Amino acid sequence: MSSPKTKNAKPLNIITPAQIEWQDDDSGNKVPVSGEFGDVYFSHADGLAESRHVFLQHNQVPERWTKLEAKQCFTIAELGFGTGLNFLATWQLWRELRTQQPHLATARLHFITTEKYPIPLSDLTQILALWAQRAPELAELIEQLLASYPALITGCHRLQFIEDNLTLDIWLGDASDSLASLDSESTINRPYVDVWFLDGFAPSCNETLWADSIFTQMQRLSRTGTTAATYSCAGIVKRGLQAHGFAIKKVKGFGRKREMLTAIINEDSQLNENTPTLSNHHNHTIVIGAGVAGLLTTWTLANRDIKVTIVDKAAPLAGASGNPRALLAPNMTPIHHVYEHLHSIGYLYSGRLYRYFNQQAAIQKSPLILEQTGTLDLLIKTNIGTEQIADYPNAMATTISAEEARRVSGLKSKDLDDNLYLPQSGLVNPQALKTIILMHPNITYQQLNVTSIQETAEQITVYGDKKNSNSSQKPMTIIADNVVICAAYESHQLDKRIVECRTIRGQLSWFTPTAEQITKLPKLPLKYSGYCAPFIGQDGDAEINNIVEGQPQFLLGASFVDADANIDIRSEENQQNHDKLLEDIPELNNVLPGDTDAWQARAGIRTQTMDYHPLVGLLAQSKRLWTLSAMGAKGYALAPICAEALADMMLGCFTPLSAVMLARLSPNRARLHKQAKAKPLK
Ligand code: SAM
Repeated sequence: MSSPKTKNAKPLNIITPAQIEWQDDDSGNKVPVSGEFGDVYFSHADGLAESRHVFLQHNQVPERWTKLEAKQCFTIAELGFGTGLNFLATWQLWRELRTQQPHLATARLHFITTEKYPIPLSDLTQILALWAQRAPELAELIEQLLASYPALITGCHRLQFIEDNLTLDIWLGDASDSLASLDSESTINRPYVDVWFLDGFAPSCNETLWADSIFTQMQRLSRTGTTAATYSCAGIVKRGLQAHGFAIKKVKGFGRKREMLTAIINEDSQLNENTPTLSNHHNHTIVIGAGVAGLLTTWTLANRDIKVTIVDKAAPLAGASGNPRALLAPNMTPIHHVYEHLHSIGYLYSGRLYRYFNQQAAIQKSPLILEQTGTLDLLIKTNIGTEQIADYPNAMATTISAEEARRVSGLKSKDLDDNLYLPQSGLVNPQALKTIILMHPNITYQQLNVTSIQETAEQITVYGDKKNSNSSQKPMTIIADNVVICAAYESHQLDKRIVECRTIRGQLSWFTPTAEQITKLPKLPLKYSGYCAPFIGQDGDAEINNIVEGQPQFLLGASFVDADANIDIRSEENQQNHDKLLEDIPELNNVLPGDTDAWQARAGIRTQTMDYHPLVGLLAQSKRLWTLSAMGAKGYALAPICAEALADMMLGCFTPLSAVMLARLSPNRARLHKQAKAKPLK
């Protein structure tokens, strides 16, 4: 083993990708070596068998899975994701056992891993091609992993392998910061790690993964019965584990290796004795409000095998979420803030989820949920410049040449030297998303105007009136284990513990361009001081908006009227949308039709808190009443990741959002309630 190389001094929170060097091993095989640490990622001869022996067998993983209960989550945490080989071996075993043991059908595997020097996708593709060849049972999994491998930016990247009930959280950054970010307080049942894979390079190459701060976090996140395994028997490892509650044991190492280490938290260690129990609190949930927040909450819970009744006083997407299309394009932040920037985190996750939905839609031959058009931001209303954009991985955000910008947009005279191009961004089709979500077998939609909610120790009851076919009202009562209020600005009416929010009216306009206009209008979504986008009407659009299938449309958004909850269509706001585009891009003057009264429009009310963060979590003094609301105009970017966090909090799993972020989103955060008292809303 060589000594550690000096690391580049990069500003905190910016990821340094791994430098992969290919070296010959003793048998002349090429093996990937970390340029940072000068150590091999795995042995060429038997890396996979070693991974199975050390981490899976010596943590008794297969035996422990046979004892899982229905819907129970088993959590593995790994130090050092590297090439993902341990993860792939675990996934393959999980898949195999799930086909053999029917009781695992609803159990869930949560694999949390940390990586400070992630391997760039191109290198990883090359490395894993080796394993796809040598272990064909991994080939399909490798393909899926590579297809969802995240952009290399700091923070938690949640990847879902939905058919396998498997969640992979890759926390990019220093492991000790990442473990410290894991929240164990906001959940109803405290989450714990069941198994640790300690797979740092040898302590002689890299002490950081064997530091006291790591063992302290392991202790915080473990409970009686938690085990750990590592190939290293170095003194620093043994002492660290013992000093933090683990009883250690040396066992025979893999192959010709003499020894390795296993460890367990024994009952007498007096650590975290309160083993969480799977309560019967999770059989049925009612979600109130069928906008984007409610729909995503519903799907996320249904995907965890919970029956969900989603209710709405009018209809799904009747409110602000029912625009013909929603632009999924983040407001960027300088990269050193990105790990705490909910909009970027949400953008990356929702893109991934919508692409999964696209696969489902393709199978059913129904319209795409996300049309990945790319977006060109002209940097007119932004606090980030091209220098800061350059810090981002190109796959997420980049600046393209003025010539290329002209080619993709069709603009001719606008100065496009400074721009932000988002290749993975695009247009969400709310109607298509709704259709795919409501098809889930665990979901029932019910029209219901909720009048009150009553919580007891045993259950929670929702009372309301439902419309009969003759339009008369009939009282209706639904009982559940949990209720989630996703009713935007009306959430406060349903429970006064949810703070009253700002209501911001936004009107979106669209028109059907002529064939000639189409050739001259922007060819992809543009962001300026407003935004515009061309799209084609799809099957289902007519259900919520007056849009004909197959007909081209051009949309412009959106007006912004604070403290206004009226949703009448206003011709002056169509005009504003028109003027904003021409002010920023005058060359469209002769292209954009001037008769805005003939345009179509839809007005919705965006709900925003005083500190701009949504409300996500359990209400004060409640055990069954939750909220996910106040997404502002960003619902399609924020709801998927917030719904994941909420489901994790309900079910006692580790969330993909840091403890600091969860505190910022708590519906009970003191700042919000103080502000609300001091500044009553109009
Ligand atoms: N488990 C990996 C696999 O299956 O390929 C191999 C892991 S490799 C032996 C150790 C990994 O730990 C490297 O990818 C390295 O970049 C990462 N690492 C080193 N120091 C770290 C730190 N302080 N925080 C997070 N990751 C770290």
